[in-house]
Amino acid sequence: MAPDRAIAVRAAEPSLAARPPVALYIHVPFCVSICPYCDFVVYAGRAARGRDDQVDRFVRALANELELRADDLDASLGSPGSPSTRPPLRSVYFGGGTPSLLPARVVGRLLERVQARFGLAADAEITLEANPGRDEVGDLAGFKAAGVNRLSLGAQSMDEGELRRLGRRHCPQDVVAAVRLARRAGFSNVSVDLLYDIPGQTPARWQRTLDVVVELGVEHVSAYALTLDDLDAEGVTGISGDHLPLRSGARRWRERARLEQDEDQAADLYRIADDRLTAAAVRWYEISNWAVPGRESRHNLAYWGRLSYEALGPGAHAFDGDATRRWNAARLDAYLAALLPSDGSPPRSPPGGSESLAPDDVAGEAMILALRTRDGIPAGATADVGVASALHWAEENRLLEARSRGRLVLSLRGRLLSNELFARLV
Ligand code: SF4
Repeated sequence: MAPDRAIAVRAAEPSLAARPPVALYIHVPFCVSICPYCDFVVYAGRAARGRDDQVDRFVRALANELELRADDLDASLGSPGSPSTRPPLRSVYFGGGTPSLLPARVVGRLLERVQARFGLAADAEITLEANPGRDEVGDLAGFKAAGVNRLSLGAQSMDEGELRRLGRRHCPQDVVAAVRLARRAGFSNVSVDLLYDIPGQTPARWQRTLDVVVELGVEHVSAYALTLDDLDAEGVTGISGDHLPLRSGARRWRERARLEQDEDQAADLYRIADDRLTAAAVRWYEISNWAVPGRESRHNLAYWGRLSYEALGPGAHAFDGDATRRWNAARLDAYLAALLPSDGSPPRSPPGGSESLAPDDVAGEAMILALRTRDGIPAGATADVGVASALHWAEENRLLEARSRGRLVLSLRGRLLSNELFARLV
């Protein structure tokens, strides 16, 4: 089933049964240094590099978690290989952190175990996130040889001043060099991540960033507004939480940066991105994502389509394709203690939590996720009076437009004001 089709079906007919995973997320929680705006589960400094780093122990723990999660799936859904029970994975995603800090042979060994325990479709999309800095970009040729076929580069900006302001280690030339290196290594599917609404950013500088990225000829661009949430206030940084507490320096940086952000300018920057990328035939397919047709991220489409995915590593989230999400706690020490017990007992699942949505919430979530995408939802997808009235409001206010095949899709205005519509759908 094509991913876009999957989104439509799941939006209209949420099911009540858990499904075998079609995708696997592997979180690698190490970076050379920590950017002040970062909300990901990341450890830097001595944990990430040097004689006493935790990388080897983490890799052994990760391998143990992979086997435990696969054992659980074998027990509940049967072994991989049988299309009716556990079809092979269509996507694997090494995210972080900076997965490109891992040796290529480690990535290769993990993929061999994924193949053995989960199965991998012959055309599976296998993505690895890399930072462009010279000491972060890693062994791109080695990753390609290990089976990675899609590279996601954390460029964020092509403006030297903006990169410094964001606390990034690389410069714009490093991004250019990393894309060239990726092409030489044989990658034909390269994505670049960008940020807008950066303090001090101007439309002209953003335009230049987009121009350079377009000239690089990458197949996929993600552009996210810089968000500066207070994770501690949101209550997600506790002992079982999936995020780490904010460091005081990062909190101060965010407080200052927030003062310089501007919603109206952010909307202008989004429009500039959409214009520039569309003109280069890199078309939007999700609110924050644009791709050359056929190069949409299969992994992320699984998220937006509410397909089932498995996940490994601190802070990683898995979803059963129905109503239940499970996450690992963010704390690396607790993760290592559970999966590499010092008393010689067998590894056990790391601490974390789970939550299940009520059926009404499943339907609402499915609709919101589907509306994020270019495929939208079928017109008349709901019998719920409240939801139908919210959709009617969105059509009247030109947030939604009717497309061919009876689909309702966000307009450009709708993408900019999507949160207003989504708030009415929950
Ligand atoms: S490089 Fe990325 S993952 Fe690492 S600290 Fe910076 S934003 Fe976070």
